[in-house]
Amino acid sequence: MSKRLTLLVLVLLFCFFAGCATNPITSRQELMLFSPQQDIEIGRKYAPELEKQLGGRIADQTLQNYINSIGQRIASVSHNPNFEYRFVALNHESTNAFALPGGHIFITRGMLEKLETESQLAAILAHEVAHVVARDTMNVMSNQIGIDALLSAVTSESTPAGVTTAANLTNQIIGLSYSREDEKTADLAGLDYMTWAGYNPYGMVETVQMLQNLQESRQIEFFSTHPSPQNRLGYLTQKIQTQYPNVTALKVGKQDYHRYVLQNL
Ligand SMILES: [Zn+2]
Repeated sequence: MSKRLTLLVLVLLFCFFAGCATNPITSRQELMLFSPQQDIEIGRKYAPELEKQLGGRIADQTLQNYINSIGQRIASVSHNPNFEYRFVALNHESTNAFALPGGHIFITRGMLEKLETESQLAAILAHEVAHVVARDTMNVMSNQIGIDALLSAVTSESTPAGVTTAANLTNQIIGLSYSREDEKTADLAGLDYMTWAGYNPYGMVETVQMLQNLQESRQIEFFSTHPSPQNRLGYLTQKIQTQYPNVTALKVGKQDYHRYVLQNL
C-alpha cells in the first residue's frame, strides 16, 4: 500500500474506534476525541478559575446583560445553537476575547474600552462563537495541553490536587493559540453569524482595522492568542460586497453601545 493509503486507513480506523466529528462550518470530518457534552463539561469546569485569574466579572449587571443578550442572539443563528453559551465581561486591562469549549465566551474591559459600536462588539462575539461551533478550542487544547491532562482534570473532583491541576491548566488555556486557517474560518463564519443576527458586517472590518492599528504601536494580547491571518481586511470586505451588498438596514448601534457599555465601565 502507498504511504498515503496507509495513512487514510489508519485515520479511518482511528475514527472508527476513537471518534470523528463533522465540522458544521466547513463540513469536513475532523478527528475529535471528545463528545460535545465533554466540551460543555470542560467549559463549566474551567470557567470559574479563568474568571478569577482575569480580574473577575465587571460588576455592572446592566452591562453584563447587554453583552450576554447580543451574544445569545448570535449563538442562536449559528451552525450550533445547542452549546451552553454564556458571554461574560471580565475586569481585566488586557485587550482580549476568548472562548472555552462548550460556549463560555469572555471579553475583557481593555477590549470593550476600545470598541465604539454594538456591531463591533457583535463581530468579536461572533468570531468567538465560530471557534466554539467549530470546536477549535477543544482541538487546540487536546493538541497543546494533552488529552490525558484534560481528561484527568475533568474526572478529578475538587480535591486539592485537582484544584492545582485546574489552575495550571487555566493558565495554559489563556495562552492557547489557534492556526491561521482556523482564524480565517472563524472570521468568515463569524461574519455570517453577526449579519444573520441583524448587525452591520462592516463592524468586523472596523474591529480588525482598529486592532491592527493598535498592534503597530504596542503588543495586543488578542494577537498572541489569535494570530492574524494575512489579508484579513481583504477577504472580509470581499465577502461583504459579494454576499451582503445591502447593509443599510442592519444595526450599527453606536448610541446603545455608549449607553450600556462605555458609560458603565
Ligand atoms: Zn480567533
